[in-house]
Amino acid sequence: MGSDSTRDRKVLIYVLQNREGLALTRYYLGDLTWEEAEKMLKEVDFVLVPIGSTEQHGPHLPLCTDYALTEMICKKLVEDGLNAIIAPTVAYGCSEHHMRFPGTISLKEDSLYNLVRDICDSLFEHGVKRVLIVNGHGGNREVLQILARDLLSEGKEVLVVNWWEFTGGVEDVLGAETVIRGHACEIETSFALCLMPEKVRKDKIPKDHEVRDPRIDIDGEKVSLKPIHDWKELSEDGSIGVPSRGSVEAGEEMIKRITDHLLKALKKYLERSSTSS
Ligand SMILES: [Zn+2]
Repeated sequence: MGSDSTRDRKVLIYVLQNREGLALTRYYLGDLTWEEAEKMLKEVDFVLVPIGSTEQHGPHLPLCTDYALTEMICKKLVEDGLNAIIAPTVAYGCSEHHMRFPGTISLKEDSLYNLVRDICDSLFEHGVKRVLIVNGHGGNREVLQILARDLLSEGKEVLVVNWWEFTGGVEDVLGAETVIRGHACEIETSFALCLMPEKVRKDKIPKDHEVRDPRIDIDGEKVSLKPIHDWKELSEDGSIGVPSRGSVEAGEEMIKRITDHLLKALKKYLERSSTSS
């Protein structure tokens, strides 16, 4: 993607002094030469592997939403001090449930597993300390958990985070859920308005759309009895929630919390692993 290169010319934050005193200012693996990679991959605390999907996001958000936002979150983590290199973004994920919407590209679970496994195995072969899979799509969650468990049992240190889960709650920012949310909803619309406003079709943000909640209500508590396999059952336009409630301000607040929480969690994780080893 490299979406930062032309728009955002501010000085790259990640600076690594090599033995000759030469400042290397790059943090995307794809921007390094093999000689730079040889050194930096062994030195950083994490190699981030951003993973998203190419799938419908309602009438107002582009197909790139999950992978573009995930890559931007990774960039923010590094700019805010995480000692990490960012591997090229995986732009595809498991999106079978969105296939009735044109443009969606879906990997089979085995394909995602094998693809990300090969990426992780390659990185470990080059001596990285640990890999942090930064996932931006709910449909990838199960596969990535299974993969991380398998790699951990082989002695490879792999962490997985679903970055949108690190808001610490959104009710105070966006209000309580009135219509089932979680995809192209007010939360994701706010992220997009904040991080890639030029890609949001503002005139297409749904105002009165019908959303069918598949969950069962038991005295006010919503429970799920079957996985969602066809997004059309929830919404004709592909978005859920109340996207028109989304705002730049809400996006900024949530992104700030997410990066803060993630950085704190990763710092604590590193402190714990350094004392236990
Ligand atoms: Zn999404």
